Amino acid sequence: MFNALVVNKDEDGKTSAAVEEMTLDQLPQAEVTVAVEYSTVNYKDGLCIGPGGGLVRNYPHVPGIDFAGTVEASDDDRYKPGDKVVLTGWRVGEAHWGGYSQKARVKADWLVPLPAGLDTRQAMAVGTAGFTAMLSVMALEDHGIKAGPVLVTGAAGGVGSVATAILAHLGYKVAAVTGRPETEGYLRDLGASQIVAREELNETVKRPLEGETWGGCVDAVGGAMLARVLGQMEYGASVAAVGLAGGAGLPATVIPFLLRGVNLLGIDSVMQPYDNRLRAWERIATDLPMEKLEAMVRPATLADLPQLGADILKGQVQGRVVVDVN
Ligand code: NDP
Repeated sequence: MFNALVVNKDEDGKTSAAVEEMTLDQLPQAEVTVAVEYSTVNYKDGLCIGPGGGLVRNYPHVPGIDFAGTVEASDDDRYKPGDKVVLTGWRVGEAHWGGYSQKARVKADWLVPLPAGLDTRQAMAVGTAGFTAMLSVMALEDHGIKAGPVLVTGAAGGVGSVATAILAHLGYKVAAVTGRPETEGYLRDLGASQIVAREELNETVKRPLEGETWGGCVDAVGGAMLARVLGQMEYGASVAAVGLAGGAGLPATVIPFLLRGVNLLGIDSVMQPYDNRLRAWERIATDLPMEKLEAMVRPATLADLPQLGADILKGQVQGRVVVDVN
């Protein structure tokens, strides 16, 4: 027997989440069974713990879009019992049962060996949010980061916190956008040298081009803020579009692309090819200072998840929640 957070749906279509006992034969069929040690809480988890947001196909459902643990059994040559592994993406925790469970059974293709220098707890302190932050930084580097500060929007959230810490560690000046002024000390400790109030960037675009201010941007917010930021980028600079915490619309003009050669880079962590996943996890192990990572962590258990899921949907979670599923 083991414990998992199970979301059930009643006849009226209402969902409810609670910790339940399970047996191994209830797990889906796949090549690798993992004894999960840690998971975390992402915006998508908030949706999947709650009414599903259109992401969950079948109930009962076990959410948890990422996890790290130890292989317990494997029908695939690439993994053997005892191997430490991490999983993000592939619609695990949405279309497939996920990491809010003491055991998970998944395809070998979806796993990545834990990189040297990280333990399973640290891997989930990074989680999908941090992994995506690293993919964003790599995309900005590939396109060239310009001289001005790098803007990070939604900075006190998971993606934003890790992006801030990595960029500062790499020597870039980081300007952190937050709607929570009380997080200033936290953001400065992560390495932000400038704090930008959310209201300053909330207005919709009135002038398609403003002063050339930012040498790059990791954007977790989207919507009107992303549209506004595009007009403030330096000539030839790039924005990594990661999230939609502020909205999925993009009320922008094409002028920043045409007159300033600004690049809008789409970042997807879910279907990312294996080689790039390995590269990103290895970069995380070297370029994310572990003491900064530790400062972002808030511990939690399976029983805390229904509340945390609701909190993250309201933008009330700071940094990274690490869920000890045991
Ligand atoms: P969090 O909730 O931890 O962070 C989002 C942050 O955005 C909040 O902390 C808040 O930061 C800011 N924010 C929230 N609401 C608004 C608003 N209405 N207007 C402006 N800012 C707002 O989520 P994550 O960091 O885990 O994820 C961030 C986004 O990235 C989400 O949209 C998520 O779905 C997406 N994502 C995408 C991935 C991909 O593969 N592309 C992978 C992972 C996440 P502050 O308080 O500092 O203002």
